[in-house]
Amino acid sequence: MLNTLRRIIQEVASHQDFEEALQLMVKRVAKALHSEACSIFLLNRRRSEYVLIATKGLNPKAIKKVCIPINQGLVGLVGEKEEPVNISDAPKHPRFLYVPHVQEDRFSAFLGTPIIYHRQVLGVLIVQQAEPRRYEEPEEAFLATLATQLAAIIAHAEATGAVASLLDNYAEPKGASTYSGIPSSPGVGMGTGVVVYPLLDLEGIPDRLTDDIEGEIQLLEQALAAGREDFRVLGERLYPNLPIEERSLFDVYQRMLDTSDLGAEIVRLIRSGHWAQGALKQVIQSHVQHLENLDNEYLRERAIDIKDLGHRVLAYLQRNERALLQYADKTILIGEQLTAADLAEVPEGTLAGVISVKGSSSSHVAILARAMNVPTIMGASEVPIYNLENKEIIIDGYYGQVYIEPSALLREEFEKLAEEERELDASLEVLRDLPAQSKDGHRIALMVNTGLGGDVGLSLAAGAEGVGLYRTEMPFLMRDRFPSGEEQRVIYRQLLVSFSPRPVTMRMLDIGGDKALSYFPVEEDNPFLGWRGIRITLDHPEIFLVQARAMLRASEGYNNLRIMLPMITDVSEVDEALRLLKKAFADVCDEGHSIEMPQVGVMMEVPSAVYQARAIAKRVDFLSVGSNDLTQYILAVDRNNARVANLFDSLHPAVLRALLQVVEGGHQEGRHVSICGEMAGDPAAILLLFAMGFDSLSMSAASLARMKWVIRQFSMKKAAKLLQEVLGMESAVMIRCHMELALEQVGLGGLVRAGKR
Ligand code: PEP
Ligand code: MG
Repeated sequence: MLNTLRRIIQEVASHQDFEEALQLMVKRVAKALHSEACSIFLLNRRRSEYVLIATKGLNPKAIKKVCIPINQGLVGLVGEKEEPVNISDAPKHPRFLYVPHVQEDRFSAFLGTPIIYHRQVLGVLIVQQAEPRRYEEPEEAFLATLATQLAAIIAHAEATGAVASLLDNYAEPKGASTYSGIPSSPGVGMGTGVVVYPLLDLEGIPDRLTDDIEGEIQLLEQALAAGREDFRVLGERLYPNLPIEERSLFDVYQRMLDTSDLGAEIVRLIRSGHWAQGALKQVIQSHVQHLENLDNEYLRERAIDIKDLGHRVLAYLQRNERALLQYADKTILIGEQLTAADLAEVPEGTLAGVISVKGSSSSHVAILARAMNVPTIMGASEVPIYNLENKEIIIDGYYGQVYIEPSALLREEFEKLAEEERELDASLEVLRDLPAQSKDGHRIALMVNTGLGGDVGLSLAAGAEGVGLYRTEMPFLMRDRFPSGEEQRVIYRQLLVSFSPRPVTMRMLDIGGDKALSYFPVEEDNPFLGWRGIRITLDHPEIFLVQARAMLRASEGYNNLRIMLPMITDVSEVDEALRLLKKAFADVCDEGHSIEMPQVGVMMEVPSAVYQARAIAKRVDFLSVGSNDLTQYILAVDRNNARVANLFDSLHPAVLRALLQVVEGGHQEGRHVSICGEMAGDPAAILLLFAMGFDSLSMSAASLARMKWVIRQFSMKKAAKLLQEVLGMESAVMIRCHMELALEQVGLGGLVRAGKR
C-alpha cells in the first residue's frame, strides 16, 4: 500500500498540468482500491459549492459542470464532518443527493474523505462501487493518507493560480476577486501588480502562457548562448589538467545547449504558447525523469548533469528577466517568498504595497515594509500570484485583504480610507517635539529602528531621540561580496553624523535565519536554531573585526556610537565579543584615531539569556530585548512560517514574564534596559512595556508618533494597573482584547486597527 501511495503521489506531483494530474490520480486510486469510480471535488469558496474536477467512473461530461452546494449531498457531508464517510448503500442515505448527468445511481458503496490543508477543507476525494459494502479500514486509511498529500499539491496549485483558473473556467462571477493573508503592515495600498519570480528554483517555476513568443525565444537563445560560453571558458581553463575522456564532457554540455538539441525542444514548447522558463522546466524535468528511471547507473547519474544545465540556463533567463522587470509608478510587489533585497530594488517612491505567499508578519521583509510604511500582506497562500502581473490591485494592510481588479465603488471606498489615514498622520505631526510623557509625568525615551531601508529623515521628522537598533545587514545584503571596511565606515559615518548628538545603537552583523548572503551561503536544516548572528561572526573574527573597526573609525569626533551584540546565548559569547571589541578599539587607537570606547550592549532574544540577565548585565552597559526572536524561541514558533503565524504573539503571558525578568536583572545591575523588537511599536503592548519599567523603546519611524500619542493619553498609574490585570490572564488573546478595550475606552480604537497585525 505504501509503495502504491508513494508512486501515485510522485506521479501526480511531477505532472506538469494540474488538471491532467488530478485525472491521472483518480484513475490510479480507483485501480488501487479496486473501485469502479473515483472522483475529486474541489471547493469553490466564493460560490460555496463543490465542483467535480476529475473522475474515473462517473460521467466525464459532468466534469466542471456539476456543482454541489456546500451543505448538500454526501460530498457536502464529508466536508462538514471533516472526516471520512464510509457508507455501504449510498442511495439509501438521507443525505444522498440525486444529481442528473452524473450517473452515480448505479453505485452503492461510498467512501469519501476530506482534503484538508491547514485546517481548511479544499475538497473531497471519493471512491464508489456498485456492490454494496463498507470499505475496509486499511482502504479508508489509504484514502485519508492520500488526501493529506493531495492537499499539499492542491494548496501549491492554489498559490500558482492553477486552482483558480480551473474553477474560474467553470463559472467565475465578474468583479473583484478577494483573497486574504496575514496583515503585516497597516495601511491601504493601491497600484499595479509586479510579480518577482524566485531565483534559481527550477521546481518552483510556474506554468505560464505567453503572448510574446518571439520575445521568449530570444530570451532563451541568449540564455543558451551564455550557458555555452560558460562551458567553453570552463573547459578551456580545465583542459590542461583533465584526462581526454573528461574533456569531451564539456563539449557534450555545449552541444546539449545548442539550439538544435535541448534548445530545439524548448523552442517547440515556447511556440506552443509556454513562456521560456516554464518550457525549460518541462524539458529538463522530462529528461531527468527519463534518466532516473533507467537501470544503468552511469546514465542515471547523468540526470544530475541535466538538472545542472537546467539551473544554469534558468539563472541566465532570470537574470535577463530581472533586468527587464518593469516597475509601475505605484508598484504592488508580489512574490512567492520576497526578500528585503527585492523591496530595496524597487525605485524609491514607487512601492505601494507588498504581497508575499510565504513568510509572516515577523519576517524581516515585513519588518522592512513596516519601516517603509508600505501596506503588506504575508502568508498570502491563496492569492494566485502569477496571474497578477499588470493587474490593478488594492491591499488592505489592516485586515490582510487583497482585492484584484476592484469595482469603481470599492476603489472609491479605499481612496476615502487612505485619505483618512493621511489626515491621522498629519494630526500626529504636532506631537513631534513633545516628549513621550504620561499624564502623571513619567517619561520614556522613544528611539527608532533603522537599517533595513529605514530613512534617516523620516526618523528625525518623527521626533526620534536616537537609534535604538541599526540593523547593519543591508549593506551586506545588497552586494555580491562583503563590503570593505572603508565602504562600511562611510555608511556608518553618515548615520552617526545625521543623528549626532543623539545615540546610535549599531548591531553587529546578524545574518543567518531568514537573512542570507548570496556570497556566503549558510545551509541549515533549522536556520533559526543554527549558525546565525554572533555564532557566525565569532567563528569569523575577521568579519567581526573589520566591522567593529569600521564602526569605531566612523564614530571619531562624534562619539555617539553604541554597539550591540545579537543572538547571545551564553556569557562566554559576551566575553569573547568584548575581547574582540577591545582589540578593535586598540587597533583603531593605534592608527592614531581619537575615539572613546562606545557603550556595549547585548540583545536579549534567546530564552537562556533571559534566565541569565543579571550575569550578562554585569558584563555590559545595556540590555535590549529583541522581542521578535525572543517570542519565536519562547513559543517555539518559526517567525517566518505562515502556517504557525496565528501562534506568534508577543503578548503571550510567558513572553511578558520573560520581559519582566530582563528588566529586573538589568536594573539590579544598574543597567539601561530597552526593547527594540516589533512589540515596541504595537499599540496593544506599549503601555505594558512602559509599566514594566523599560528605559527606552525602539520602533520603526512609522509607529513612533502613534506610540507617543498612546503614552500621552494614559497615566503610569493606569498603565501599572493594566499590567497587573494582564499578568493574571492566561492567554495572549485575552490580554490583547483587554488592552484593545483599554485603548478604545480613551478613544484610541482607530490605533488598534492601525496596529493590528
Ligand atoms: C528581534 O529579534 O526582535 C530583533 C530586533 O532583531 P531582528 O528582528 O533583526 O532579528
Ligand atoms: Mg533578532
